[in-house]
Amino acid sequence: MNLHSRAVLPVLAVLLFAGCYQVPVTGRRAMNLVDDKEVTKMSIAMFDDMKKRYRPARDPARNEQLQRVGERISKVVFWDMPDADWEFVVFDQPQINAFAMAGGKVGVFTGLFKIAKTDDELASVIAHEIAHVTAKHVHEKFSRELAVDTVGTVGTIGGLAGGASGLTVSALSQVYGLTTGISGFAFDRAKEKEADYIGLMYMARAGYDPQAAVRVLEALEAASANDPVQPAFLSTHPTHPERIIQLMDAMPKALSEREKGAANAQPILIR
Ligand SMILES: [Zn+2]
Repeated sequence: MNLHSRAVLPVLAVLLFAGCYQVPVTGRRAMNLVDDKEVTKMSIAMFDDMKKRYRPARDPARNEQLQRVGERISKVVFWDMPDADWEFVVFDQPQINAFAMAGGKVGVFTGLFKIAKTDDELASVIAHEIAHVTAKHVHEKFSRELAVDTVGTVGTIGGLAGGASGLTVSALSQVYGLTTGISGFAFDRAKEKEADYIGLMYMARAGYDPQAAVRVLEALEAASANDPVQPAFLSTHPTHPERIIQLMDAMPKALSEREKGAANAQPILIR
């Protein structure tokens, strides 16, 4: 009896049934084998844990700025994350970093304000991080690892079919890239560029100046040149020139999205 070939059929069935989802803005179809609700539940638990481990910053100006920008971005992504219970927290940490998690949990380290000072600049970072969430990059990364893992090992199939799908907090935090404490989320180059593109459209629709996204990447580039120890945010992201070129290419579309956003916002603008 060949266990391995017997294993492949149920895996294919799971792949078919678990199906696909469509990434917002880009419309790309991607695979998802994990339960949305489980990922959200665990992400919220991880965020609560971070709030206990890392001190929230007291600086009222930075906190207000993040709430203000976060609220505007969250309105634009409403239909991409309708169940989100938004929370925006500034953590008192020197690293240049920010992250967003399923369920609408967003963290910014005080170090980020070294390179993102204005609302437009902060919006570009928040929108990029939220784009990773609406595009379900964590689900996709996890699903791929799970699929590879499952085809190779018979033992996990029972778990998959039973709905447990090997999704644990430690596995999820590894996918998020949180195992080493504070570090950038580790996504591949294609996903970083996708988050850049989606984020650019989000920030533009929210009425922010999309050109700020380019300024932030340039500032990151300068920060990494001055600092022999690479900021965590940089180590996992593709090279900035490559990202900047993509942003420039998308700029005319982003500017027209901003115009459209402004036109739509007019009737309900009360101040
Ligand atoms: Zn990213």
